Amino acid sequence: MNCPYCDYDDTSVLESRSLPEDKGVRRRRECKKCSKRFTTHEKIVNLDLKVIKKSGVLEDYDREKLLKGVKKACYKRMVSSEVIEALVDEIEMKLLKRQTTQIKSSDIGKMVLNRLKKIDELAFMRFASVYMDFEDANQFRLFIGCPVKINN
Ligand SMILES: [Zn+2]
Repeated sequence: MNCPYCDYDDTSVLESRSLPEDKGVRRRRECKKCSKRFTTHEKIVNLDLKVIKKSGVLEDYDREKLLKGVKKACYKRMVSSEVIEALVDEIEMKLLKRQTTQIKSSDIGKMVLNRLKKIDELAFMRFASVYMDFEDANQFRLFIGCPVKINN
């Protein structure tokens, strides 16, 4: 996204808002060079990506599904939908840059977790408990870096 004023190719996002009915995302941006502000309307193109489920089944990548999972983890937390949209955007950008068109669902889960950990600890733990499919509580505690061992 180049600045319409000076054509500089790096801008920061001040605000993101999802438009209704899947019409894309409206963003308020600021040029990092001339500091002028402008608004963009971005339509997310569907990623031509297959997700490999744990069962081995291939499924089309579904942004809404991923969004829903993250939103659920952030339920009643102080995480705005702008932050959640930006998190998913960032992951999609990463996925777009990959050479392959298939990715394990657990890899996407890890990408979410890496980011969620910095945003909200509880949301991170909720997401981890759903996505990582731990065998027991100790495995979960090990994963989140909690040293307390539980004896069942
Ligand atoms: Zn500029």
